Amino acid sequence: MSRVLVVNSGSSSLKYAVVESDSGSMIADGIVERIGDDGGVPDHAAALQVVFDELADDMAGLVAVGHRVVHGGPDLYRPALVDDALIAKLEALSPLAPLHNPPALLGIEVARKALPDLPHVAVFDTAFFHDLPPAAATYAIDRDIAAQWNIRRYGFHGTSHQFVSERAAEFLGVPLDSLRQIVLHLGNGASASAIAGGRPVDTSMGLTPMEGLVMGTRSGDIDPGIITYLSRTAEMSVEDIESMLNRRSGMLGLGGEIDFRVLHQRIESGDPAAQLAYEVYIHRLRKYIGAYLAVLGSADVITFTAGVGENDAAVRRDALSGMSALGVELDEELNAERSKGARRISAESSSTTVLVVPTDEELAIARACVSVVTELG
Ligand code: AMP
Repeated sequence: MSRVLVVNSGSSSLKYAVVESDSGSMIADGIVERIGDDGGVPDHAAALQVVFDELADDMAGLVAVGHRVVHGGPDLYRPALVDDALIAKLEALSPLAPLHNPPALLGIEVARKALPDLPHVAVFDTAFFHDLPPAAATYAIDRDIAAQWNIRRYGFHGTSHQFVSERAAEFLGVPLDSLRQIVLHLGNGASASAIAGGRPVDTSMGLTPMEGLVMGTRSGDIDPGIITYLSRTAEMSVEDIESMLNRRSGMLGLGGEIDFRVLHQRIESGDPAAQLAYEVYIHRLRKYIGAYLAVLGSADVITFTAGVGENDAAVRRDALSGMSALGVELDEELNAERSKGARRISAESSSTTVLVVPTDEELAIARACVSVVTELG
């Protein structure tokens, strides 16, 4: 009675999963890529048909469809039943997230047409950070302009930061509200958060998912002067600059590669660009860890999650090396081990516990969906 289809619709890909939200088991998952490309499917409706064909019998007994929506803007943060009014609100938000929300809307629209009898629920990636303290959420820019254009730090990957911080508390057998945590979500997109007592205190992404850590293809923090300089002097258009910062920066822009497995191989073979990319990545990560240790006073737990965080022992080691004076010490052997579940990787002597906790955004979205559907009766 809890089977949910979770859809994460991007501009050229559609990720999907069927999740049994009670047991937490993943029945099926996959991705349809190259939507609108030569050799791919023509559009999102066709992509969804591919999903239905793949899922076949796994579609039986669905109770809801959950949609990941990147940006909820200032007002949308609780998981919400999709109706025409919500679609209109999401359309109005598109300028805030032009790269992410329009494809999500497209996904919602084709899925609603294809599965009209099921409730569809939107779950927002910004939701968890809705209650960031004003000091962390506010940019120090002209306050009237900020208010007029809804400019604030929204934060993203919220579903993951919330899920992982709750799992960390569960794993440690400690009440969530007693913990000061730093969560490092390091995937192709990457973000850090500081969480006290289950509430977000700061996070590295801002108005858009471009701020903060160095990512697969995004720059993370840059001097905003770079944008005006490129616009004025290099005569790059706003679209060119945005595309460069989102798609051709980060590890790809510096090291020519986003996959850390390949990047490490290139470093091994003496590639200086890959080496510098890695050093910039680690340097930025360490700055955020230090900043959040200061914001929180100290951390009871630091947790690594997502593709790089869960799998790359070298990144975890280099992110935390030399921090014993700050109370953070890894156990090299535990760090080098691999396992599927949550695990501790800190030394016994470390006053901060360091964990690896696999994220499961699909499960979190499925659970949010079921709670909305249950409330509806
Ligand atoms: P995500 O966005 O969470 O799916 O993370 C994807 C990224 O995780 C990939 O681009 C890789 O850089 C990284 N990744 C996945 N598996 C490994 C691994 N075994 N070792 C190092 N990095 C990995």
